[in-house]
Amino acid sequence: MVERVAVIGAGIAGLGVAMALARDGREITLIDRDAPPPQSIETAFETWERKGVTQLRHSHVFLGRLVSLIRDKHPVLHKMLHDAGAREIDFEETLPPALRDNYKRTESDKDLAFLFSRRTTLEHAIRAYVETLPAVRFITGAAVRTLSISRAANIPAVTGLTIERDGRAPEILDADIVVDASGRNSILTDWLRDQGLTIEEEKNPAGILYFTRHYKLREGQTEPPRDLTPGAGDLGYIKFGVFPADNRHFSITLAVPEIETALRAAIVKPEVFDATCTAIPGCARWIDPARAEPVTKVFGMGNLHNVWRHFVRDGAPVVHGFFAVGDSALRTNPLYGRGCSSAMMHAHLLGDVVNETSDPTERALRFNTRAKRDLRPFWEMIVKQDLGAIRRAKSEQDPAYTPRWKARWIKSFAEDAIGPATRSNLGVLRAIMKGFHMLEAPSTWLGHPTIVMRVLLMWMTPKRAKEKLYPPKLGPERREMFSRLGLQQRAA
Ligand SMILES: Cc1cc2nc3c(=O)[nH]c(=O)nc-3n(C[C@H](O)[C@H](O)[C@H](O)COP(=O)(O)OP(=O)(O)OC[C@H]3O[C@@H](n4cnc5c(N)ncnc54)[C@H](O)[C@@H]3O)c2cc1C
Repeated sequence: MVERVAVIGAGIAGLGVAMALARDGREITLIDRDAPPPQSIETAFETWERKGVTQLRHSHVFLGRLVSLIRDKHPVLHKMLHDAGAREIDFEETLPPALRDNYKRTESDKDLAFLFSRRTTLEHAIRAYVETLPAVRFITGAAVRTLSISRAANIPAVTGLTIERDGRAPEILDADIVVDASGRNSILTDWLRDQGLTIEEEKNPAGILYFTRHYKLREGQTEPPRDLTPGAGDLGYIKFGVFPADNRHFSITLAVPEIETALRAAIVKPEVFDATCTAIPGCARWIDPARAEPVTKVFGMGNLHNVWRHFVRDGAPVVHGFFAVGDSALRTNPLYGRGCSSAMMHAHLLGDVVNETSDPTERALRFNTRAKRDLRPFWEMIVKQDLGAIRRAKSEQDPAYTPRWKARWIKSFAEDAIGPATRSNLGVLRAIMKGFHMLEAPSTWLGHPTIVMRVLLMWMTPKRAKEKLYPPKLGPERREMFSRLGLQQRAA
Protein backbone atom coordinates (compact mmCIF):
# COMPACT_ATOMS: atom_id res chain seq x y z
CA MET A 1 0.00 0.00 0.00
CA VAL A 2 1.23 3.47 -0.86
CA GLU A 3 1.75 5.73 2.17
CA ARG A 4 0.52 9.29 1.52
CA VAL A 5 2.46 12.10 3.21
CA ALA A 6 1.17 15.68 3.10
CA VAL A 7 3.68 18.34 4.09
CA ILE A 8 2.48 21.87 4.89
CA GLY A 9 5.28 24.25 3.90
CA ALA A 10 8.14 23.83 1.45
CA GLY A 11 10.81 25.73 3.37
CA ILE A 12 13.90 24.08 4.85
CA ALA A 13 11.97 21.69 7.11
CA GLY A 14 9.38 20.71 4.49
CA LEU A 15 12.07 20.09 1.87
CA GLY A 16 14.04 18.15 4.50
CA VAL A 17 11.02 15.93 5.20
CA ALA A 18 10.75 15.13 1.49
CA MET A 19 14.49 14.34 1.39
CA ALA A 20 14.20 12.05 4.40
CA LEU A 21 10.98 10.27 3.42
CA ALA A 22 11.03 9.98 -0.37
CA ARG A 23 11.20 6.35 -1.42
CA ASP A 24 9.25 3.71 -3.32
CA GLY A 25 5.85 3.10 -1.80
CA ARG A 26 5.37 6.65 -0.60
CA GLU A 27 3.76 9.71 -2.19
CA ILE A 28 4.78 13.09 -0.85
CA THR A 29 2.82 16.28 -1.48
CA LEU A 30 4.35 19.58 -0.41
CA ILE A 31 1.86 22.42 -0.15
CA ASP A 32 3.20 25.97 0.10
CA ARG A 33 1.39 29.26 0.09
CA ASP A 34 4.31 31.06 -1.63
CA ALA A 35 5.19 31.00 -5.32
CA PRO A 36 7.85 28.60 -6.62
CA PRO A 37 11.40 29.97 -7.01
CA PRO A 38 12.39 31.98 -10.08
CA GLN A 39 14.82 30.20 -12.37
CA SER A 40 18.13 31.85 -11.50
CA ILE A 41 19.65 32.24 -8.05
CA GLU A 42 20.28 35.96 -8.59
CA THR A 43 16.62 36.55 -9.49
CA ALA A 44 15.63 34.47 -6.48
CA PHE A 45 17.69 36.75 -4.25
CA GLU A 46 16.24 39.89 -5.82
CA THR A 47 12.60 39.02 -6.38
CA TRP A 48 11.45 35.71 -4.85
CA GLU A 49 8.51 36.78 -2.75
CA ARG A 50 8.15 34.69 0.41
CA LYS A 51 5.47 36.15 2.63
CA GLY A 52 5.72 32.93 4.62
CA VAL A 53 9.47 33.31 5.29
CA THR A 54 10.09 36.78 6.69
CA GLN A 55 13.72 35.92 7.46
CA LEU A 56 14.51 35.01 3.83
CA ARG A 57 16.73 38.05 3.25
CA HIS A 58 18.42 38.00 6.63
CA SER A 59 21.96 36.68 7.03
CA HIS A 60 22.21 32.92 7.23
CA VAL A 61 25.17 30.67 7.95
CA PHE A 62 24.95 26.89 7.81
CA LEU A 63 26.67 24.68 10.34
CA GLY A 64 28.72 21.50 10.08
CA ARG A 65 25.80 19.30 11.09
CA LEU A 66 23.76 20.46 8.11
CA VAL A 67 26.72 20.31 5.74
CA SER A 68 27.74 16.78 6.75
CA LEU A 69 24.15 15.53 6.66
CA ILE A 70 23.80 16.81 3.08
CA ARG A 71 27.27 15.53 2.09
CA ASP A 72 26.71 12.02 3.52
CA LYS A 73 23.02 11.42 2.76
CA HIS A 74 22.42 13.62 -0.31
CA PRO A 75 25.68 13.82 -2.31
CA VAL A 76 23.87 15.01 -5.45
CA LEU A 77 22.52 18.02 -3.54
CA HIS A 78 25.98 18.63 -2.08
CA LYS A 79 27.31 18.99 -5.60
CA MET A 80 24.36 21.16 -6.67
CA LEU A 81 25.08 23.56 -3.82
CA HIS A 82 28.72 23.87 -4.84
CA ASP A 83 27.71 24.35 -8.47
CA ALA A 84 25.39 27.16 -7.36
CA GLY A 85 28.35 28.96 -5.76
CA ALA A 86 27.82 28.02 -2.09
CA ARG A 87 31.23 27.79 -0.40
CA GLU A 88 32.35 25.27 2.16
CA ILE A 89 34.89 26.73 4.57
CA ASP A 90 36.67 23.86 6.23
CA PHE A 91 38.14 23.71 9.71
CA GLU A 92 41.67 24.55 8.57
CA GLU A 93 40.54 27.77 6.90
CA THR A 94 38.86 28.97 10.10
CA LEU A 95 41.92 28.40 12.30
CA PRO A 96 43.42 31.35 14.16
CA PRO A 97 46.96 32.24 12.97
CA ALA A 98 48.66 30.63 16.00
CA LEU A 99 47.21 27.22 15.10
CA ARG A 100 47.69 27.20 11.34
CA ASP A 101 51.39 26.31 11.13
CA ASN A 102 51.34 23.04 13.06
CA TYR A 103 47.91 21.92 11.94
CA LYS A 104 47.48 18.23 11.14
CA ARG A 105 44.10 17.17 9.77
CA THR A 106 42.12 14.48 11.61
CA GLU A 107 39.29 12.47 10.05
CA SER A 108 36.55 14.23 12.03
CA ASP A 109 37.73 17.72 10.99
CA LYS A 110 35.83 17.30 7.72
CA ASP A 111 32.58 17.69 9.70
CA LEU A 112 33.62 21.06 11.14
CA ALA A 113 32.92 22.99 7.94
CA PHE A 114 30.63 25.99 7.50
CA LEU A 115 28.58 26.50 4.37
CA PHE A 116 28.52 30.12 3.25
CA SER A 117 25.57 31.01 1.07
CA ARG A 118 22.65 33.36 0.87
CA ARG A 119 19.53 31.73 2.25
CA THR A 120 17.84 32.09 -1.15
CA THR A 121 20.71 30.23 -2.86
CA LEU A 122 20.57 27.36 -0.36
CA GLU A 123 16.82 26.99 -0.64
CA HIS A 124 16.88 27.32 -4.43
CA ALA A 125 19.32 24.40 -4.68
CA ILE A 126 17.50 22.20 -2.14
CA ARG A 127 14.20 22.82 -3.90
CA ALA A 128 15.69 21.90 -7.30
CA TYR A 129 17.05 18.69 -5.75
CA VAL A 130 13.76 17.73 -4.09
CA GLU A 131 11.94 18.25 -7.40
CA THR A 132 14.02 15.37 -8.80
CA LEU A 133 13.05 12.91 -6.02
CA PRO A 134 10.60 10.09 -6.83
CA ALA A 135 6.88 10.59 -6.14
CA VAL A 136 7.28 14.11 -4.75
CA ARG A 137 4.96 16.84 -6.02
CA PHE A 138 4.51 20.50 -5.12
CA ILE A 139 1.29 22.48 -4.86
CA THR A 140 2.21 26.18 -4.65
CA GLY A 141 0.20 29.33 -4.07
CA ALA A 142 -1.94 27.23 -1.73
CA ALA A 143 -2.56 27.65 1.99
CA VAL A 144 -3.54 25.07 4.60
CA ARG A 145 -5.53 26.42 7.50
CA THR A 146 -7.53 23.39 8.62
CA LEU A 147 -6.87 19.69 9.11
CA SER A 148 -9.19 16.69 8.89
CA ILE A 149 -9.44 14.91 12.19
CA SER A 150 -10.93 11.56 13.23
CA ARG A 151 -12.02 10.89 16.78
CA ALA A 152 -12.85 7.20 16.27
CA ALA A 153 -10.08 6.05 18.63
CA ASN A 154 -8.93 7.13 22.08
CA ILE A 155 -6.28 9.38 20.63
CA PRO A 156 -7.61 11.61 17.83
CA ALA A 157 -5.92 11.17 14.45
CA VAL A 158 -5.19 13.70 11.72
CA THR A 159 -6.33 12.16 8.43
CA GLY A 160 -5.74 14.96 5.94
CA LEU A 161 -6.05 18.67 5.31
CA THR A 162 -7.84 21.29 3.26
CA ILE A 163 -6.02 23.12 0.50
CA GLU A 164 -7.16 26.68 -0.22
CA ARG A 165 -6.25 28.39 -3.47
CA ASP A 166 -7.42 31.75 -4.82
CA GLY A 167 -10.38 31.39 -7.14
CA ARG A 168 -10.87 27.66 -6.46
CA ALA A 169 -13.13 25.69 -4.17
CA PRO A 170 -11.32 24.29 -1.09
CA GLU A 171 -9.94 20.82 -1.77
CA ILE A 172 -9.57 18.03 0.77
CA LEU A 173 -6.39 15.99 0.60
CA ASP A 174 -6.43 12.71 2.53
CA ALA A 175 -3.12 11.62 4.01
CA ASP A 176 -1.68 8.91 6.25
CA ILE A 177 0.81 11.38 7.71
CA VAL A 178 0.46 15.16 7.90
CA VAL A 179 3.59 17.18 8.62
CA ASP A 180 3.41 20.78 9.76
CA ALA A 181 6.52 22.43 8.33
CA SER A 182 4.90 25.83 7.98
CA GLY A 183 7.52 27.69 9.98
CA ARG A 184 7.58 30.27 12.73
CA ASN A 185 4.06 31.57 12.09
CA SER A 186 2.37 28.16 11.93
CA ILE A 187 -1.33 28.39 12.68
CA LEU A 188 -1.90 24.65 12.88
CA THR A 189 -1.01 24.20 16.53
CA ASP A 190 -3.62 26.83 17.38
CA TRP A 191 -6.08 25.03 15.13
CA LEU A 192 -5.45 21.76 17.00
CA ARG A 193 -5.83 23.59 20.32
CA ASP A 194 -9.17 24.94 19.11
CA GLN A 195 -10.19 21.29 18.66
CA GLY A 196 -9.52 20.75 22.37
CA LEU A 197 -6.06 19.16 22.06
CA THR A 198 -3.56 20.34 24.64
CA ILE A 199 -0.23 21.23 23.07
CA GLU A 200 1.96 22.89 25.67
CA GLU A 201 4.42 25.57 24.70
CA GLU A 202 7.53 27.01 26.30
CA LYS A 203 8.37 30.49 25.02
CA ASN A 204 11.22 32.80 26.01
CA PRO A 205 12.33 36.09 24.46
CA ALA A 206 15.51 36.25 22.42
CA GLY A 207 15.67 39.89 23.58
CA ILE A 208 17.05 41.28 20.31
CA LEU A 209 16.02 42.74 17.00
CA TYR A 210 17.82 41.74 13.82
CA PHE A 211 19.06 44.20 11.18
CA THR A 212 20.73 42.94 8.00
CA ARG A 213 22.21 44.57 4.93
CA HIS A 214 23.70 42.76 1.92
CA TYR A 215 26.82 43.83 0.03
CA LYS A 216 28.80 42.62 -2.96
CA LEU A 217 32.56 42.66 -3.49
CA ARG A 218 33.61 44.97 -6.28
CA GLU A 219 35.25 43.54 -9.38
CA GLY A 220 38.85 42.53 -8.62
CA GLN A 221 38.38 42.81 -4.85
CA THR A 222 38.71 39.95 -2.37
CA GLU A 223 37.45 39.27 1.15
CA PRO A 224 39.63 40.55 4.03
CA PRO A 225 42.19 38.03 5.33
CA ARG A 226 41.16 35.65 8.12
CA ASP A 227 43.23 36.94 11.02
CA LEU A 228 42.48 37.69 14.66
CA THR A 229 40.07 40.54 13.83
CA PRO A 230 36.72 39.05 14.86
CA GLY A 231 34.01 38.88 12.22
CA ALA A 232 31.45 38.49 15.00
CA GLY A 233 31.20 39.72 18.54
CA ASP A 234 29.13 41.14 21.36
CA LEU A 235 29.59 44.72 22.53
CA GLY A 236 26.77 44.42 25.09
CA TYR A 237 24.62 47.15 23.52
CA ILE A 238 24.96 45.57 20.06
CA LYS A 239 26.06 42.25 18.56
CA PHE A 240 27.55 42.05 15.10
CA GLY A 241 28.30 39.37 12.55
CA VAL A 242 29.73 39.30 9.03
CA PHE A 243 28.27 36.50 6.91
CA PRO A 244 30.29 35.64 3.79
CA ALA A 245 28.04 34.12 1.13
CA ASP A 246 28.03 32.80 -2.43
CA ASN A 247 28.98 34.50 -5.68
CA ARG A 248 30.88 37.44 -4.11
CA HIS A 249 27.99 38.38 -1.84
CA PHE A 250 28.17 38.90 1.91
CA SER A 251 25.92 40.45 4.52
CA ILE A 252 26.26 42.07 7.90
CA THR A 253 23.81 41.62 10.74
CA LEU A 254 23.60 43.97 13.70
CA ALA A 255 21.49 42.61 16.55
CA VAL A 256 20.22 45.26 18.91
CA PRO A 257 18.77 44.52 22.36
CA GLU A 258 15.04 45.26 22.45
CA ILE A 259 15.55 47.81 25.22
CA GLU A 260 17.93 49.94 23.10
CA THR A 261 15.03 51.93 21.68
CA ALA A 262 16.99 54.84 20.18
CA LEU A 263 19.55 52.61 18.49
CA ARG A 264 16.98 50.22 17.06
CA ALA A 265 14.90 53.07 15.63
CA ALA A 266 17.94 54.63 13.94
CA ILE A 267 19.82 51.62 12.67
CA VAL A 268 17.33 50.74 9.98
CA LYS A 269 18.53 53.82 8.08
CA PRO A 270 21.27 52.68 5.66
CA GLU A 271 23.58 55.58 6.58
CA VAL A 272 23.31 54.79 10.32
CA PHE A 273 23.76 51.07 9.67
CA ASP A 274 26.93 51.70 7.65
CA ALA A 275 28.24 54.25 10.17
CA THR A 276 27.79 51.67 12.94
CA CYS A 277 29.65 49.07 10.88
CA THR A 278 32.42 51.56 10.13
CA ALA A 279 32.98 52.02 13.88
CA ILE A 280 33.45 48.25 14.36
CA PRO A 281 36.81 47.08 12.94
CA GLY A 282 35.55 43.55 12.16
CA CYS A 283 32.82 45.02 9.91
CA ALA A 284 34.54 48.19 8.67
CA ARG A 285 37.15 46.43 6.54
CA TRP A 286 34.40 44.48 4.74
CA ILE A 287 32.26 47.46 3.79
CA ASP A 288 35.16 49.74 2.85
CA PRO A 289 33.69 51.45 -0.29
CA ALA A 290 36.84 50.53 -2.24
CA ARG A 291 36.16 46.85 -1.51
CA ALA A 292 32.38 46.42 -1.62
CA GLU A 293 29.07 48.10 -2.36
CA PRO A 294 25.69 47.70 -0.66
CA VAL A 295 23.11 45.89 -2.78
CA THR A 296 20.03 46.04 -0.55
CA LYS A 297 18.28 48.23 1.97
CA VAL A 298 18.51 47.36 5.68
CA PHE A 299 16.07 44.60 6.58
CA GLY A 300 14.75 44.60 10.14
CA MET A 301 13.06 41.81 12.06
CA GLY A 302 11.71 41.44 15.60
CA ASN A 303 9.40 39.15 17.55
CA LEU A 304 12.23 36.64 18.01
CA HIS A 305 11.68 33.93 20.59
CA ASN A 306 12.94 30.55 21.69
CA VAL A 307 9.93 28.25 21.42
CA TRP A 308 9.44 24.55 22.17
CA ARG A 309 6.06 22.85 21.57
CA HIS A 310 5.15 19.56 23.22
CA PHE A 311 3.12 17.05 21.18
CA VAL A 312 3.46 14.29 23.80
CA ARG A 313 1.70 14.72 27.12
CA ASP A 314 1.96 12.46 30.17
CA GLY A 315 3.80 9.88 28.06
CA ALA A 316 1.15 9.70 25.30
CA PRO A 317 0.85 11.44 21.91
CA VAL A 318 -1.67 14.29 21.87
CA VAL A 319 -2.61 13.31 18.33
CA HIS A 320 -1.79 10.54 15.85
CA GLY A 321 -0.56 11.02 12.29
CA PHE A 322 0.58 14.60 12.80
CA PHE A 323 4.17 15.81 13.21
CA ALA A 324 5.49 19.35 13.55
CA VAL A 325 8.99 19.76 12.13
CA GLY A 326 11.37 22.75 12.09
CA ASP A 327 10.31 26.18 13.31
CA SER A 328 6.68 25.14 13.79
CA ALA A 329 7.87 22.82 16.58
CA LEU A 330 10.97 24.52 17.96
CA ARG A 331 12.66 27.85 17.38
CA THR A 332 15.86 29.41 18.60
CA ASN A 333 17.40 32.87 18.60
CA PRO A 334 18.75 33.28 15.04
CA LEU A 335 22.04 34.67 16.36
CA TYR A 336 23.22 31.12 17.00
CA GLY A 337 22.65 30.13 13.35
CA ARG A 338 21.08 26.80 14.27
CA GLY A 339 17.57 26.98 12.77
CA CYS A 340 18.21 25.36 9.38
CA SER A 341 20.49 22.69 10.84
CA SER A 342 17.83 21.92 13.47
CA ALA A 343 15.07 21.83 10.85
CA MET A 344 17.04 19.45 8.63
CA MET A 345 18.05 17.23 11.58
CA HIS A 346 14.46 17.21 12.83
CA ALA A 347 13.19 16.21 9.37
CA HIS A 348 15.67 13.34 9.22
CA LEU A 349 14.72 12.19 12.74
CA LEU A 350 11.15 11.99 11.46
CA GLY A 351 12.35 10.07 8.41
CA ASP A 352 14.09 7.53 10.67
CA VAL A 353 11.09 6.85 12.91
CA VAL A 354 8.62 6.69 10.05
CA ASN A 355 10.89 4.21 8.25
CA GLU A 356 11.34 2.12 11.42
CA THR A 357 7.74 1.56 12.47
CA SER A 358 4.20 2.04 11.21
CA ASP A 359 2.67 2.13 14.69
CA PRO A 360 1.33 5.70 15.18
CA THR A 361 2.00 5.84 18.92
CA GLU A 362 5.54 4.50 18.53
CA ARG A 363 6.22 6.99 15.76
CA ALA A 364 5.09 9.91 17.90
CA LEU A 365 6.95 8.79 21.02
CA ARG A 366 10.23 7.97 19.27
CA PHE A 367 10.14 11.25 17.36
CA ASN A 368 9.60 13.13 20.60
CA THR A 369 12.35 11.27 22.49
CA ARG A 370 14.92 11.75 19.75
CA ALA A 371 14.18 15.46 19.33
CA LYS A 372 14.67 15.87 23.07
CA ARG A 373 17.92 13.92 22.90
CA ASP A 374 19.43 15.59 19.83
CA LEU A 375 17.94 19.10 19.77
CA ARG A 376 16.75 20.03 23.24
CA PRO A 377 20.24 20.54 24.78
CA PHE A 378 20.95 23.30 22.24
CA TRP A 379 17.58 24.92 22.88
CA GLU A 380 18.09 24.92 26.65
CA MET A 381 21.56 26.41 26.40
CA ILE A 382 20.33 29.20 24.11
CA VAL A 383 17.47 30.05 26.47
CA LYS A 384 19.96 30.35 29.33
CA GLN A 385 22.41 32.46 27.35
CA ASP A 386 19.66 34.78 26.10
CA LEU A 387 18.43 35.45 29.64
CA GLY A 388 22.01 36.41 30.57
CA ALA A 389 22.35 38.66 27.49
CA ILE A 390 19.06 40.42 28.29
CA ARG A 391 20.35 41.17 31.81
CA ARG A 392 23.68 42.42 30.43
CA ALA A 393 21.98 44.72 27.90
CA LYS A 394 19.95 46.28 30.72
CA SER A 395 23.01 46.93 32.84
CA GLU A 396 24.84 48.50 29.84
CA GLN A 397 22.37 51.38 30.09
CA ASP A 398 23.32 52.13 33.68
CA PRO A 399 26.63 54.02 33.90
CA ALA A 400 26.84 53.25 37.66
CA TYR A 401 26.47 49.50 37.14
CA THR A 402 29.20 47.24 38.51
CA PRO A 403 28.79 43.56 37.71
CA ARG A 404 28.48 41.10 40.59
CA TRP A 405 31.16 38.47 41.18
CA LYS A 406 29.20 35.78 39.30
CA ALA A 407 28.82 37.91 36.15
CA ARG A 408 32.51 38.88 36.33
CA TRP A 409 33.50 35.24 36.79
CA ILE A 410 31.47 34.08 33.76
CA LYS A 411 32.88 36.90 31.61
CA SER A 412 36.41 36.11 32.68
CA PHE A 413 35.96 32.38 32.03
CA ALA A 414 34.80 33.17 28.47
CA GLU A 415 37.38 35.87 27.73
CA ASP A 416 40.45 34.75 29.71
CA ALA A 417 40.05 30.97 29.60
CA ILE A 418 37.91 29.60 26.74
CA GLY A 419 38.85 32.34 24.22
CA PRO A 420 42.66 32.11 24.54
CA ALA A 421 42.50 28.30 24.91
CA THR A 422 40.61 27.91 21.63
CA ARG A 423 43.07 30.27 19.92
CA SER A 424 46.12 28.29 21.05
CA ASN A 425 45.11 24.66 21.45
CA LEU A 426 43.69 22.55 18.61
CA GLY A 427 42.25 19.93 20.97
CA VAL A 428 40.24 22.54 22.86
CA LEU A 429 39.10 24.24 19.66
CA ARG A 430 37.99 20.94 18.11
CA ALA A 431 36.08 19.91 21.25
CA ILE A 432 34.22 23.21 21.52
CA MET A 433 33.53 23.49 17.79
CA LYS A 434 31.86 20.05 17.78
CA GLY A 435 29.18 21.50 20.06
CA PHE A 436 29.03 24.74 18.09
CA HIS A 437 28.40 22.83 14.84
CA MET A 438 25.72 20.66 16.54
CA LEU A 439 27.74 17.47 16.04
CA GLU A 440 27.46 16.72 19.74
CA ALA A 441 25.65 18.33 22.68
CA PRO A 442 26.97 21.81 23.46
CA SER A 443 28.36 20.88 26.87
CA THR A 444 29.91 17.51 25.93
CA TRP A 445 33.38 19.04 26.00
CA LEU A 446 32.97 19.64 29.75
CA GLY A 447 33.03 15.85 30.17
CA HIS A 448 36.58 15.57 28.80
CA PRO A 449 39.01 16.08 31.73
CA THR A 450 42.04 16.91 29.52
CA ILE A 451 40.13 19.61 27.66
CA VAL A 452 38.74 21.11 30.87
CA MET A 453 42.22 21.01 32.42
CA ARG A 454 43.70 22.90 29.46
CA VAL A 455 41.01 25.56 29.70
CA LEU A 456 41.55 25.93 33.46
CA LEU A 457 45.31 26.14 33.02
CA MET A 458 44.78 28.93 30.51
CA TRP A 459 42.56 30.72 33.03
CA MET A 460 45.35 30.56 35.59
CA THR A 461 47.97 31.84 33.14
CA PRO A 462 48.77 35.51 33.83
CA LYS A 463 47.37 37.91 31.22
CA ARG A 464 50.83 39.14 30.26
CA ALA A 465 51.87 35.61 29.23
CA LYS A 466 48.84 35.15 26.93
CA GLU A 467 48.67 38.71 25.56
CA LYS A 468 48.91 37.59 21.92
CA LEU A 469 45.89 35.30 22.31
CA TYR A 470 43.38 38.12 22.78
CA PRO A 471 41.57 39.57 19.76
CA PRO A 472 41.84 43.30 19.09
CA LYS A 473 39.18 45.48 20.73
CA LEU A 474 35.81 44.57 19.20
CA GLY A 475 34.55 48.14 18.90
CA PRO A 476 33.66 51.32 20.76
CA GLU A 477 31.95 51.46 24.14
CA ARG A 478 28.27 52.33 24.09
CA ARG A 479 28.86 55.96 25.08
CA GLU A 480 31.31 56.51 22.24
CA MET A 481 29.17 54.76 19.62
CA PHE A 482 26.07 56.71 20.62
CA SER A 483 27.91 59.96 20.42
CA ARG A 484 29.33 59.06 16.96
CA LEU A 485 25.80 58.27 15.77
CA GLY A 486 24.28 61.32 17.45
CA LEU A 487 21.96 59.25 19.64
CA GLN A 488 20.61 59.86 23.16
CA GLN A 489 22.51 57.83 25.78
CA ARG A 490 19.47 57.01 27.89
CA ALA A 491 16.75 54.65 26.70
CA ALA A 492 13.38 56.34 26.19
C1 LIG B 1 16.41 36.76 11.29
C2 LIG B 1 16.70 35.29 11.18
C3 LIG B 1 17.98 34.84 10.83
C4 LIG B 1 18.27 33.48 10.79
N1 LIG B 1 19.54 33.05 10.53
C5 LIG B 1 19.81 31.74 10.49
C6 LIG B 1 21.13 31.25 10.21
O1 LIG B 1 22.09 32.01 10.10
N2 LIG B 1 21.32 29.90 10.11
C7 LIG B 1 20.30 29.03 10.29
O2 LIG B 1 20.52 27.83 10.19
N3 LIG B 1 19.05 29.45 10.58
C8 LIG B 1 18.79 30.77 10.69
N4 LIG B 1 17.52 31.20 10.96
C9 LIG B 1 16.47 30.22 11.22
C10 LIG B 1 15.94 29.62 9.93
O3 LIG B 1 15.63 30.63 9.01
C11 LIG B 1 14.71 28.79 10.26
O4 LIG B 1 14.97 28.00 11.37
C12 LIG B 1 14.29 27.92 9.09
O5 LIG B 1 13.88 28.68 8.00
C13 LIG B 1 13.16 26.99 9.53
O6 LIG B 1 12.69 26.29 8.44
P1 LIG B 1 11.15 25.91 8.34
O7 LIG B 1 11.02 25.13 7.10
O8 LIG B 1 10.69 25.36 9.63
O9 LIG B 1 10.39 27.29 8.15
P2 LIG B 1 10.46 28.26 6.90
O10 LIG B 1 11.76 28.15 6.24
O11 LIG B 1 10.02 29.59 7.41
O12 LIG B 1 9.38 27.69 5.87
C14 LIG B 1 8.01 27.66 6.14
C15 LIG B 1 7.27 27.48 4.82
O13 LIG B 1 5.89 27.24 5.09
C16 LIG B 1 5.08 28.02 4.22
N5 LIG B 1 3.79 28.24 4.91
C17 LIG B 1 3.59 28.94 6.05
N6 LIG B 1 2.29 28.85 6.42
C18 LIG B 1 1.67 28.07 5.50
C19 LIG B 1 0.34 27.60 5.35
N7 LIG B 1 -0.61 27.90 6.24
N8 LIG B 1 0.05 26.83 4.28
C20 LIG B 1 1.02 26.50 3.36
N9 LIG B 1 2.30 26.92 3.48
C21 LIG B 1 2.63 27.68 4.53
C22 LIG B 1 5.89 29.28 4.01
O14 LIG B 1 5.50 29.96 2.85
C23 LIG B 1 7.32 28.70 3.93
O15 LIG B 1 7.67 28.35 2.63
C24 LIG B 1 17.23 32.55 11.05
C25 LIG B 1 15.96 32.99 11.39
C26 LIG B 1 15.69 34.34 11.48
C27 LIG B 1 14.32 34.78 11.93
